[in-house]
Amino acid sequence: MPSLEVNTDRAIDLAMRLMAIPGKSGQELAVSNFVRHTLIDGGIDPSFLFDDNAHHRTPLAGECGNLILKLPGSLAGPRRMLSAHLDTVPLCVGSQPVLREERIESANPQTALGADDRAGVAALLNAALTIIERKLPHPPLTFLWPVQEEIGLHGARCVDKQLLGEPVLAFNWDGGAPTKITVGATGGWRGEVTITGVASHAGGAPEFGVSAIAIAAIAVSTLQRGGWHGLVEKNGRRGTSNVGVIQGGQATNVVADHVTLRVESRSHDPLFRQQIIDQFRAAFEQAASEVKNVQGVSGHVCMEGRIDYEAFRLRDDEPCVLEAERIIRALGFEPTRVISNGGLDANWLSAHGIPTVTLGCGQLRQHMTTEALDINDYLLACRVALCLATSLT
Ligand SMILES: [Zn+2]
Repeated sequence: MPSLEVNTDRAIDLAMRLMAIPGKSGQELAVSNFVRHTLIDGGIDPSFLFDDNAHHRTPLAGECGNLILKLPGSLAGPRRMLSAHLDTVPLCVGSQPVLREERIESANPQTALGADDRAGVAALLNAALTIIERKLPHPPLTFLWPVQEEIGLHGARCVDKQLLGEPVLAFNWDGGAPTKITVGATGGWRGEVTITGVASHAGGAPEFGVSAIAIAAIAVSTLQRGGWHGLVEKNGRRGTSNVGVIQGGQATNVVADHVTLRVESRSHDPLFRQQIIDQFRAAFEQAASEVKNVQGVSGHVCMEGRIDYEAFRLRDDEPCVLEAERIIRALGFEPTRVISNGGLDANWLSAHGIPTVTLGCGQLRQHMTTEALDINDYLLACRVALCLATSLT
């Protein structure tokens, strides 16, 4: 029986090199090429590798689509799929990964590391390379590296189940503890608020202006004070909301007549999420009606949005859940099932009829400049990925 041990030097090297490649959402070509070339150099038949052109169907025209590797099985059994997203948040661009004791961090204090989700990308890559070089037996396999996860799970949304070979068991890596099995996740909504005021000279005739910035400020403070911004808990129901981007104004001597805000809300409970969105709309409309110029003209608000992904919950006896638990126990650890408050590619994969569990790969403090990769957890994730890919322990 060939070894299922992880080549730790190679696994760490892959993660370090992947995290150093800039690749925010829509700009994943360099990282996709790295994965592709590393696989081909490792002996993968290039005809098994392809790009699905999902970037032609996403709202943002990106550089490349989802990268897919499909291997015929040498063992009988249902097709398995492993996935991990290629893109990072923009904060990771410029990351300089360095080893510090048990962790990898970015030497550049201005950036995050990019362990989210290059650690997952590396764990898959390591599994594929190991299978090829040791000729490990395995069931039919699909490796999926989706694009544009961080801006709304667009790569996974635009994936074609048929192109993936209709996998039956699916495992996604994105998160912290490798023994944590995410069996459900929240649903998310994103929107834009456009506030239109009236421009006027801020020194000569401010009373004729209607400040869009004042409207935005009143609305956000109403939401914040009312408990509708951030963690939202009302009568035992729970959700989140965030005003993440605000842009507007051009000069100090002009009353700002235009502000746009980008906002989001999430909840496992679709009705409660709608209630949060309704509160946002009411707060902005109320604020717009409050801010008037001397002629009685008030501002105007337009709020538009869409559901990015619906909440999902896997069945308790879903085969991918049971298989992930079996492997983690076989490696001497105790799995825990959790529900995520963030959206995952698994939301869309599950919606496409591919029930998908998500496992951690050692990420710490994602989307922060203090982001790190826990090396022991990452290496355990590499081991779990190799076992799940081969079905062996
Ligand atoms: Zn991620």
